[in-house]
Amino acid sequence: MLLRRLEAYGFKSFAEKTQLEFGRGVTAIVGPNGSGKSNISDAIRWALGEQSIRSLRGAKMEDVIFAGSIKRRAAGVAEVSLVFDNQDGQLPLDYNEVIITRRVFRSGDSEYYINKTGCRLKDIHDLLLDTGIGRDSMTVISQNKIDEILSSKPEERRLLFEEAAGISKYKLRKREALRKLEVTEQNLIRIKDIISELE
Ligand code: ATP
Repeated sequence: MLLRRLEAYGFKSFAEKTQLEFGRGVTAIVGPNGSGKSNISDAIRWALGEQSIRSLRGAKMEDVIFAGSIKRRAAGVAEVSLVFDNQDGQLPLDYNEVIITRRVFRSGDSEYYINKTGCRLKDIHDLLLDTGIGRDSMTVISQNKIDEILSSKPEERRLLFEEAAGISKYKLRKREALRKLEVTEQNLIRIKDIISELE
């Protein structure tokens, strides 16, 4: 899947609206220490739904919003959009381009959009599951992630293979189905109680 473009504003060091175009093949981002290279991969992970602020190198979600500088006021909102090429139809949407957007306000309110239409985080997870670019996928491998994988328990490592093999979607759906079955069974017990009271 080709990530064509990243658009960010108010996200970490991207105070102004910033647009990065990615071509086919390898893109290398170079720059001095502290210039914002890792903030780009943070922006990608964040837009894909990352919930762990620690893994985005912050302490609270507000830390992803531009904090201000000598020349510029702090931003009130952070927004990142990822524009994917979907000409091969890998994403089950009838569009050649799919835009995933996440926005967060200082109040903590988060908003998600698919092709500029508001949606839930779950819709983004569902859309990306098993495409290899989901939140828990290996799309972005940070420096400490490699050590973490090497020292992880076999069960934890298995989850990575499951995501790569494309079966995590079915495991998730099975969990949801079992939960609904459980609720239905509870409802049935209640109905039986009511019927026996009436008889
Ligand atoms: P290195 O090469 O040392 O790994 P880098 O190019 O990857 O550096 P980043 O870690 O991406 O740099 O960026 C760090 C910069 O981002 C710092 O200057 C930091 O002040 C800035 N930064 C991070 N969060 C915010 C924020 N919320 N508001 C403003 N600036 C921020």
